[in-house]
Amino acid sequence: MGRVGAAKAVFVAVTGIVTAIAGVQFHEQRHFRVPIVAGPSVTRVARLSEYGRGLKGTMADTSVFFLEGKEPGGKVLVMSDTHPNECDGLLSALMFIENAVVAKGTVIVIPVLNNSASRNTRPGDGYPLFYGIPTAWGTRTFRFGDRGASPLDQWPDPDVYIHYPDGQLLSFLDARNTNRSWPGRPNGLLIERVTDGVMSLLKRERVDVAIDIHGAETMFPVTNCIVAPEKSMKIATMVSMTVTAMEGFENHVEPSPQGFRGLSHREIGDFSETLPFLLEAPFPFLDQPTGPKTLDLLMTGKDPFLLRLAAEQKLFVPYDESGWPIAKRVGQHCSVALEILDQYSRRNAERAVRVSGVPRYADLVRNGVGAYFRDPSKARARDVYYQ
Ligand SMILES: [Zn+2]
Repeated sequence: MGRVGAAKAVFVAVTGIVTAIAGVQFHEQRHFRVPIVAGPSVTRVARLSEYGRGLKGTMADTSVFFLEGKEPGGKVLVMSDTHPNECDGLLSALMFIENAVVAKGTVIVIPVLNNSASRNTRPGDGYPLFYGIPTAWGTRTFRFGDRGASPLDQWPDPDVYIHYPDGQLLSFLDARNTNRSWPGRPNGLLIERVTDGVMSLLKRERVDVAIDIHGAETMFPVTNCIVAPEKSMKIATMVSMTVTAMEGFENHVEPSPQGFRGLSHREIGDFSETLPFLLEAPFPFLDQPTGPKTLDLLMTGKDPFLLRLAAEQKLFVPYDESGWPIAKRVGQHCSVALEILDQYSRRNAERAVRVSGVPRYADLVRNGVGAYFRDPSKARARDVYYQ
């Protein structure tokens, strides 16, 4: 073997080793099982494939938690991990599953809406594969996912994503985005089958209110807000005013655009009787001009580049040295979701949903997110579900 041949052999060997190491890490992330402890009001756990066709046996099938009160009433659906890289949504949904005591009505929670995307990552952006929330009994570990479903589950991407049924042309990237595929269809792309499954659930279960929890860049104007279509607007406005006045964090309402298709706050409203609300809170990790995408940035929201942009008034949220810690973000989501239930229940006594035990903004800021997680190793085995 000449010198060139030797150099080629070394190159092939190094590439092989790097590929093998990365492959093992990606495989571990994709198959890591997150424990979720069923709290005091969880009465049953279904699979989304019981509602939608074409999901059974796929990576897109996901758990649906039912928290049923003794007294009949209305029904609310809480969804998170529509975008699994906006992880505050999942943590907020778990606050409901693990803590809520439902006295009247039913709370349905789909904690990982895009299960395939929660097993995807973005190596080009240096995303972490996992993150941990410290608790009194140890660290609770989660997968850190991506915005779109994994190409291992849905591939190839089209050149242009044609929204069903509107026909609007969307970016090819949105072919794997569960917040562009509503209302979905049973024989469409995998993610269209996910949203179709949820639409079937909303109709079959007669769900009154749907809450879809996200996180947004601080440089994006749609943040610290509730996105609501016309029919949800009154409640959204009351919720926004109430939390701002009573709980001391900023929140406003953004109208759901009629001409931008595929989003939950638009299509759920147009294609069902359910009132949809989409929640956004600042999520500095997602901003483009930050330092490395570290776990510290994810937890604290502190970044020197965002601080400089704040001084130049380039951000849409107040931002200082304190960053935007995870407890504040999750707290905002919990308070807004609870206030939506309250405002809806005041107007619809028969279909009210009454919930206690879920921490609000002040509780989470005081005690931290980890204080409200149950220890899976101390729970009864039948109460622990793996997602
Ligand atoms: Zn989102």
